[in-house]
Amino acid sequence: MDWNLLRLEPDSVTIPLVSDNKNIKKILVILLVLLVSVLPCFAARYKVVRVVDGDTIDINYKGGKERIRLLNVDTPESVHPDKTRNTQLGKQASDYTKKRLSGKFVSLEFEEKKRGKYGRLLAYVILDKKNFNLELVQKGWSPYYTKYGKSKSYHDQFSLAQGQARKSKMNIWRSPALADANHPIKISGPTMQGSIAGAGLFHGNTNSHKFHGPDCRYFSCKACTKIFSSRNAALDAGYSPCLLCSP
Ligand SMILES: [Zn+2]
Repeated sequence: MDWNLLRLEPDSVTIPLVSDNKNIKKILVILLVLLVSVLPCFAARYKVVRVVDGDTIDINYKGGKERIRLLNVDTPESVHPDKTRNTQLGKQASDYTKKRLSGKFVSLEFEEKKRGKYGRLLAYVILDKKNFNLELVQKGWSPYYTKYGKSKSYHDQFSLAQGQARKSKMNIWRSPALADANHPIKISGPTMQGSIAGAGLFHGNTNSHKFHGPDCRYFSCKACTKIFSSRNAALDAGYSPCLLCSP
């Protein structure tokens, strides 16, 4: 028996064991980090069973069917009961959403108010990890619609997307007249603010010849009856930006 060899053996085994333990710990930590970072990807996904129009879809949801109204967008009408409100652009926007979402599996993101006044779920529809609501604005199928409040999570992205779509004159932005036609302005006295805030319009004061943005407290002033679809239109008409809201 070679006693030297036996005596050496524990040493030669112990060293790799210690380093193995360290490696196992490292691997476990890496696995844990991976697992935690991957978890959000397992957000519940729902099948889109019907696209109603550009901004409204039906999905299979918790054992039933639910109607989803997409947050912060408002595409032109295509299936409105009042047929005079349905437009060619509405049909195209609807076709776009059909092409993108029909039969797909999507996940949902909610803001604090989960349901609207008609009981529909209000949500961002996430397709392939991207916000489809935002895509509609990017592609010029909808303005950044803020009638029911600005986006809590995506305000900057929506504003940027709308600005770029307008600049490139995509779809609803092809002409100011088109953009207006898609979001008919209902002038009903001083309470009209909400109905057009999302269309990015401006109100001009016919006395002072100042114009205001939708967030301004003078936006719906008594003499603010002149409506401009763009800042340039207001400037061209000889109106100057309000100093308070600097539209
Ligand atoms: Zn103002």
